Amino acid sequence: MRRHRKVKIVATLGPASNDYEMIRALFEAGADVFRLNMSHGDHSEIAARHAIIRKVEQDLGSPIAILADLQGPKLRVGTFANGEEELVIGQAFRLDLKDEPGSNKRVLLPHKEIFDALEPGATLLVNDGKIRLRVKDCGRDFADCVVEVGGTISNRKGVNVPDVVLPLAALSAKDRKDLEFVCELGVDWLALSFVQRPADVEEARNLAKGRAAILSKIEKPAAVRAFDEILAASDGIMVARGDLGVELPVQNVPPIQKQLVRKCREAAKPVIVATQMLESMIESPMPTRAEVSDVATAIYEGADAIMLSAESAAGDYPVEAVTTMANVAKEVESDPTYTEIIEASRKAKRKSVADGIVAAAREIAETTNIKAIACFTQSGTTALLVARERPRVPIIALTSIEKTARRLCLSWGTSCVITENVDRFKSAVVNAVRAAKAEGLATDTDMIVVTAGVPFNTPGSTNILRVAPCDERLIYSSHHD
Ligand code: PGA
Ligand code: MN
Repeated sequence: MRRHRKVKIVATLGPASNDYEMIRALFEAGADVFRLNMSHGDHSEIAARHAIIRKVEQDLGSPIAILADLQGPKLRVGTFANGEEELVIGQAFRLDLKDEPGSNKRVLLPHKEIFDALEPGATLLVNDGKIRLRVKDCGRDFADCVVEVGGTISNRKGVNVPDVVLPLAALSAKDRKDLEFVCELGVDWLALSFVQRPADVEEARNLAKGRAAILSKIEKPAAVRAFDEILAASDGIMVARGDLGVELPVQNVPPIQKQLVRKCREAAKPVIVATQMLESMIESPMPTRAEVSDVATAIYEGADAIMLSAESAAGDYPVEAVTTMANVAKEVESDPTYTEIIEASRKAKRKSVADGIVAAAREIAETTNIKAIACFTQSGTTALLVARERPRVPIIALTSIEKTARRLCLSWGTSCVITENVDRFKSAVVNAVRAAKAEGLATDTDMIVVTAGVPFNTPGSTNILRVAPCDERLIYSSHHD
């Protein structure tokens, strides 16, 4: 399914987007990647959503990436007897280790480490920092707090403790179980929450054993400081602005977002800008002007993907939220200023033959009337290099490996097509022009650029570039290989 859009859309699934009709509608509205949030939903719900996505993928004949987001050492309160409670300024509220439904007086905070580390005077932030609690008195299994900023607290809301260094492992026991479960289920990306050091990424990679690519969520000050090393260890990045804006002053988030997006592009690794992009659309069919501007900014910065969280998982207008993102992308990407910004920020160092070939492919495509760049890719690396060039023409990534096609759904401007295994360049070119025409990107009178590596099926071997006519008869008469 051809989308006339470069930036990708990640839609989180949840109670508002549980069934086949809704998930298919989200895909048709423009969602390229579905995110399964392991913080919510049990394994049977996750498996059910996974199966529906794969069914949609099969029915529509277009690869779809599934990203499983591991909870990580995220602190969350338990549940409430009434589902939610209103906390008012000045009232007392207790956090404890009692596994009983919460009330207006108390709730479970199932993390013993916090109580061990807390001290009177510490601040606890709940629900993305919206509620602020100050610890008055605490012990090994409780913390009596006063509400400094009130609001609604509901089931399993997140808790941040910015003042206290918590000795938490990168992957909890739950994360390890979830990781194994989703890898067996067959997800394409694993997102790691609260990464602090490159070793956290390595740990997940060792457990995933190649079954999924690893995406690090940057949401801790420590991760921002160690970003270069974390990026080197990861396959992709998420600018997780929700927790980042709680752990750091909110005004630090935009510059960090810009720096991270730029570094990811230089490294040819996909980057997602996430959280609160269309927050008001949880309850309203129309976004605010500021939200539209935020989505546009991420696109102008050259992010690979923009993400919906509660908007698509639990909101009243999931399809409208995806449509809004797609509409904003369409406007931004057809703005000449966008092209100028994207091209001015192209500054990757070219080190390999493949780097040179993809740069040449873009140059040729943009100086002549070429309709698309088709690249054969096994591991996905060549497609990532083409995406890094941010060419004006569409990128078609051709691969015989389903896993590669799915992973690349997260990458800027890339349409992914699964082809049969080719062993000769001529059949590769034929496949490429057929794919370009099937995607509606070219007709018989057009030309495309094709890159491939010979010998075939050797990852990292891109060494051929051909300008090919889309009329197959011309391919047969002009190729001798
Ligand atoms: P979360 O991550 O939605 O899992 O908390 C994203 C963020 O913190 O922005
Ligand atoms: Mn987070």
